[in-house]
Amino acid sequence: MAFLGTPGKTVQILKKYNFTMQKKYGQNFLVDTNVLEGIVEASGITRQDCVLEIGPGIGTMTQYLAESAREVVAVEIDKALIPILEDTLSSYHNITVVNEDILKVDIRRLAEERNGGAPIKVVANLPYYITTPILMELFESGAPLESVTVMVQTEVAQRMQVGPGTKEYGALSLAVQFYAEPKILMQVSPSCFMPRPKVGSAVVRLSRHAVPPVEVRDARFMFALVRASFNQRRKTLVNGLSHAEGLQITKEQAAEALGRMGLPPVVRGEALTLEQFARLSDLLGG
Ligand code: SAM
Repeated sequence: MAFLGTPGKTVQILKKYNFTMQKKYGQNFLVDTNVLEGIVEASGITRQDCVLEIGPGIGTMTQYLAESAREVVAVEIDKALIPILEDTLSSYHNITVVNEDILKVDIRRLAEERNGGAPIKVVANLPYYITTPILMELFESGAPLESVTVMVQTEVAQRMQVGPGTKEYGALSLAVQFYAEPKILMQVSPSCFMPRPKVGSAVVRLSRHAVPPVEVRDARFMFALVRASFNQRRKTLVNGLSHAEGLQITKEQAAEALGRMGLPPVVRGEALTLEQFARLSDLLGG
């Protein structure tokens, strides 16, 4: 099977299988060989690497990954794509396609089984409707990850890099910066996809920190606090935390912890740095 990364080849496959793209799965397939080559180069894959691809689609990028890596595991939710992938990837013997929702995959176990527990590299043209849950899950799964190279919406790429005081700052910024060093590597125009998305895209590489930039006793608890405070963006942090289900923090406890940090009880979550969230998490008992 020849390389698929052109509009002509992609249309040919879609027609052959009478496949209709599904908006609900964020299906915007890459049809630009320069972008495909750029992503693979940016990910720094070598022949030693085990790569996890999220959402292979018709297998366009999977082919490129298989040419560079030792092994590729491609997780695709849409079962209508599985017979297509069997066809387009038939000449490769280092690819395993898994028909599953990536949010239900035990990524830690996958790395254990496929790579002896050594760090894997993740590469994906992500489905934009679940970018944040996928990235949070990747990091919070505790799976050994060396890097995550992903195509995301330009706006999301920007969110990964900002700090307090900007309107883009949120749970994703904090999670990405706690676990990794984000770098925007390429801007990608809608014309490189089929169908064209309404938004601009960017390729970002997240290189896992050897040691997180702040110390915290329980990172999961810290991110539960972070999510609670950004879920209720317009509320004060005290209100956000005390109303969050599952956290069981009272207004008094939240206000007291903030006081010990020298912060007023009316402060909002969006004003806190990663370091302050870590301190708050330790004070509130995580
Ligand atoms: N990699 C292909 C490419 O670049 O042309 C397709 C990328 S497309 C933006 C996103 C892909 O992710 C689609 O194939 C879609 O079906 C798949 N997908 C969507 N939600 C998913 C999920 N929860 N788990 C696994 N795959 C998913």
